[in-house]
Amino acid sequence: MKPLIVANWKMNPVTIKEAEELFNSVKHGVKDIESAETVICPPFIYLPLLKGLTLGAQDSYWEEKGAYTGEVSIAMLKEMGCKYVIIGHSERRKYFNETDEIVNRKVKTALDAGLIPIVCIGETEEEREMDKTEGVLEEEIKQGLDKVDVSKIVIAYEPIWAIGTGNPCDVEEAQRMKEIIQKMVLKNIRLLYGGSVKANNAEGYLKQAGFNGLLVGGASLDAKEFVEILNNS
Ligand code: PEP
Repeated sequence: MKPLIVANWKMNPVTIKEAEELFNSVKHGVKDIESAETVICPPFIYLPLLKGLTLGAQDSYWEEKGAYTGEVSIAMLKEMGCKYVIIGHSERRKYFNETDEIVNRKVKTALDAGLIPIVCIGETEEEREMDKTEGVLEEEIKQGLDKVDVSKIVIAYEPIWAIGTGNPCDVEEAQRMKEIIQKMVLKNIRLLYGGSVKANNAEGYLKQAGFNGLLVGGASLDAKEFVEILNNS
């Protein structure tokens, strides 16, 4: 299976023009790259404007429709052409109080509707220092993936201390965490690494540590850097 390289644009760029320019530059850059599967997860409102690459959403709600102000359902995302949906990103957990129970509902709804959830798990720096990493991941997996067919999902291991900090996890340590997560979930789980990935470190996570792909935040906003990551995958 080709590595899955997922761009999480977060709440960027600020204008439609910039979003279209970024998307078109990536599209142009990846047109001859067949070694990786590229997924772009822009803010919801740009989804209908971007055509020609696989799309994913950054979140979703578990109800199909109704009085849920501000939310977007899986059915809506499907109609926008999304194939993937990121669920339980650490920023959703931190700023929007998402719990493992919420993650679980969202994952089940996405799977039922035929979208592939990319479920984010990872420990904070404090949890790591207190030797709680494995316990944290175990809890996120046990509750977040309760009664979920894990063979149908993607998991992204994203140590929170490595996200947006320019301080990526060592490749050897990432590999050790990959093996721990595989033991907790499933040997053949599709597992991504995320956390300060750049063109100069992407290859190590894929070829040395053996991850099945990457979740890329900051570097995905620079088309040249992101295409370079894809080239190195
Ligand atoms: C992310 O937000 O999922 C992420 C990995 O961000 P960054 O690449 O900027 O660390």
